[in-house]
Amino acid sequence: MFSEMKKEIIDAGIMLDRYELVSLTCGNLSVRMPSGEILVTPSGMMYEKMVEDDMIVMDLDGNIIEGTRKPSSDTPAILHIFRERPDINAVIHTHQPYATAVSLIPGLTEFRVCITALANAAGGNVPITPYSAAGSIDMGIDTVKYVGDGHAVILSQHGVMTVGKDLNQALYAAVYLEEAAKCYLAARAACVNGETKLMSDAQIQQMVDVFKYYGQGTATIPQEMVQRLG
Ligand code: 13P
Repeated sequence: MFSEMKKEIIDAGIMLDRYELVSLTCGNLSVRMPSGEILVTPSGMMYEKMVEDDMIVMDLDGNIIEGTRKPSSDTPAILHIFRERPDINAVIHTHQPYATAVSLIPGLTEFRVCITALANAAGGNVPITPYSAAGSIDMGIDTVKYVGDGHAVILSQHGVMTVGKDLNQALYAAVYLEEAAKCYLAARAACVNGETKLMSDAQIQQMVDVFKYYGQGTATIPQEMVQRLG
């Protein structure tokens, strides 16, 4: 059942590892199929060793339809997101260190867009939610509460949740968020007062719009869309 998607999820998990967004077995990936079933990665298994049969297929209430492995310990949070947001079809959880480090900065309630890639993939400023424990439904409750139209939240002192209409969108959000966090923390370390340059709302919106044309789709970026904004 859902062989192609199971392979895609495992490949995306290997990408999380490759981009150093997870260590060992941490993090998880889940996808809602068009027919409504939820695919979830197994708990505590290495992505590079996962095979299709390790994936768990369940319904929105967590009833197992296929699979013998124990599903991700974050399943209550994952199912909460899918139940509350019918427009979201993919959820990725990581412990990516740079984005998580941003949540350790006292007083910061959002990671503001500072480079184009963050606007592209996260859709705007990334909220930093209150602390929530691994395995708790709170991770999902906070994701729903804070994510809005964006694609990522940083769970304070824990990790990151990204969401998307599909797996690729959630994967880009996680990888580009980490890239932005690396740039931001490097800049902060180099700045005397810790302040960095930010992007304006118009620049952010422009990058959100441009990203809709990114990749191998037929349409190319309309040049009037990318006029220089001060
Ligand atoms: P699972 O391996 O159970 O999905 O847990 C990973 C994790 O990151 C817990 O927050």
